[in-house]
Amino acid sequence: MKRIVFLSGGIGSWAAGMRVMQKYGSEDIINLFTDTKKKNDGHPHRGEDQDLYRFLNESWEYIGGDLEWISVGKHIWQVFEEVRYMGNTRIDPCSRILKREAARKWIEKRFSPDEVTLYLGIDWTEEHRAKKCRDYWKPYHVEFPLINEPYLSKEDMCIWIEKYEVNRPRLYNMGFSHNNCGGFCVKGGQGHFYNLLKQIPERYSYHEAKQEELFLILGKRVPFIRRTIDKQINYLSLKEFREQIEKDELNNKETLIDIMDIGGCGCFNDI
Ligand code: SF4
Repeated sequence: MKRIVFLSGGIGSWAAGMRVMQKYGSEDIINLFTDTKKKNDGHPHRGEDQDLYRFLNESWEYIGGDLEWISVGKHIWQVFEEVRYMGNTRIDPCSRILKREAARKWIEKRFSPDEVTLYLGIDWTEEHRAKKCRDYWKPYHVEFPLINEPYLSKEDMCIWIEKYEVNRPRLYNMGFSHNNCGGFCVKGGQGHFYNLLKQIPERYSYHEAKQEELFLILGKRVPFIRRTIDKQINYLSLKEFREQIEKDELNNKETLIDIMDIGGCGCFNDI
């Protein structure tokens, strides 16, 4: 029986892999990493954060087994252009095509359902997502090692990896809730994008420009940052969101954004 751990480059999937290793040993483990970037694409803001690769390379060997590194060879903005749809909190063609379908094809080509078990990094705070994941991966069997006791917080997992003298992904120290897509995510909320703008403004600019390009290609503006003022829901583009913040800062006015609205991606888990 092979055991496939969906390694994302974040701390959760690493900890899930460690639990698989502790229970069954390393021998049958395959760590499957799906890259949202073309291999050898050196662009600093497209796809994963550079530090994700450092973390992945330094951490996966503690789980052991093999590392399989796959990539569809596209980035998220190419996907949105191809499917002619701007991803958002409800529909995510980016993670569907670049992550879930890529992984599924890879697995189906090599293993029948009775030859493998799949492992996802869903933890005890996200148990509601487990059923959807189970259904999605049928007829393959999926397990969620972090749902079980002893429960671990993200900080516990970061302390765990640091015992091996491997630094946690740098994006966590910068206030990001996940380590996917370089701190960007179409499922992110206002707080998430505020953090990206303040922490990595050049990456925010890159995505802002790509979104404006996409709107031109689609022939319509379909922004996804959701903001509610006086019970009215508005959707802002990255450009509008940034301009609003800059205008308020210039006028010494408090920006009406919900910093606690983080949202963000569970590419494999949020189906
Ligand atoms: S992190 Fe967000 S933007 Fe990136 S692939 Fe996942 S859902 Fe899409």
